Amino acid sequence: MSYRADEGRYEDRMPYNRTGRSGLKLPAVSLGLWQNFGDNRPLENSRAILRRAFDLGVTHFDLANNYGVPYGSAERNFGVIFAQDFAPYRDELVISTKAGYDMWPGPYGEWGSRKYVLASLDQSLKRMGLDYVDVFYSHRPDRETPFEETMGALDHAVRSGKALYAAISNYTAEQTVVAARIMRELGTPLLIHQPSYSMINRWIEDGLLEVLEEAGMGCIVYSPLAQGLLTDRYLRDVPADSRAATSRFLSAERAEDSRKLAADLDAVAGRRGQSLAQMALSWALRDPRVTSVLIGASSVKQLEDNVACVSGPEFTEAELAEIDRITGP
Ligand code: NDP
Repeated sequence: MSYRADEGRYEDRMPYNRTGRSGLKLPAVSLGLWQNFGDNRPLENSRAILRRAFDLGVTHFDLANNYGVPYGSAERNFGVIFAQDFAPYRDELVISTKAGYDMWPGPYGEWGSRKYVLASLDQSLKRMGLDYVDVFYSHRPDRETPFEETMGALDHAVRSGKALYAAISNYTAEQTVVAARIMRELGTPLLIHQPSYSMINRWIEDGLLEVLEEAGMGCIVYSPLAQGLLTDRYLRDVPADSRAATSRFLSAERAEDSRKLAADLDAVAGRRGQSLAQMALSWALRDPRVTSVLIGASSVKQLEDNVACVSGPEFTEAELAEIDRITGP
């Protein structure tokens, strides 16, 4: 059935936050296509999640060259769904992709050379059937390639019209200072940084957030649910269709080990009238320097649960202290 977006998609409660000091606003909740959009997942499920997301005001979809099993399949599947469902809404969407991790064999298939980064962007555009992406990322820092070269490639991507904004992911605070300076000098300021962040992974509080604020960059945090550990997914067992049971990125042991922590946090969430997932997302969004939480979802139900975090209550000092105590060393 052909798709028509819900006319009330901007009338609900999705906040749109300004990205650093740029002109671009991002939804408080963005959707990533890392794990649930490859050829190993039913296309119709992926389509249903994307449609529902857009209907709920999620205007930002995040991809990378190597997302999906096999690599590239998330972009290709997104391209199919985009052409059939979302093409009329292109100007209402912020679509990002990245280059940095291993994508094709040989010395030019990963890291940060101009050769790789620009070839990868061309491949991504082709797979998705797009003329441009809104945001193009250096997916990880490359210690062997001068930052001038990687940043020069991002600058070129923007100047050639293949990307509207340039961005970085997984750079340390110190590396971000250098990258931001180079891009400012080139005249293409970095829009945003994409680091990992959650109640159990707080490294960005140790310098990166200050650097981003100073540089006028936004911050979109990935894996805010710690890949599902900060949800009710593993409270009882490790379901056969879960990431911990099916993906090499999360082990069943890890899921078992975090059960008590999740149960304790779930009790706090319950008192706040939230699911654990919602509380984890509200928590990551409590700092105004965090522009957006970048979630994954394997079902429409999870997506709906997550998006509803935006109407959660503010945290009390006591709740924050309790969360610190539960997640602390
Ligand atoms: P999350 O921490 O949001 O984990 C998503 C997973 O948690 C889902 O696949 C699902 O697991 C489970 N989940 C989500 N919502 C619920 C819910 N309401 N109830 C129960 N379980 C739930 O993020 P991801 O790790 O998926 O990362 C999100 C995005 O961040 C990626 O798609 C990608 O765009 C980006 N990313 C970027 C990286 C980078 O290096 N820049 C690295 C990693 C991610 P299940 O599948 O078991 O149902």
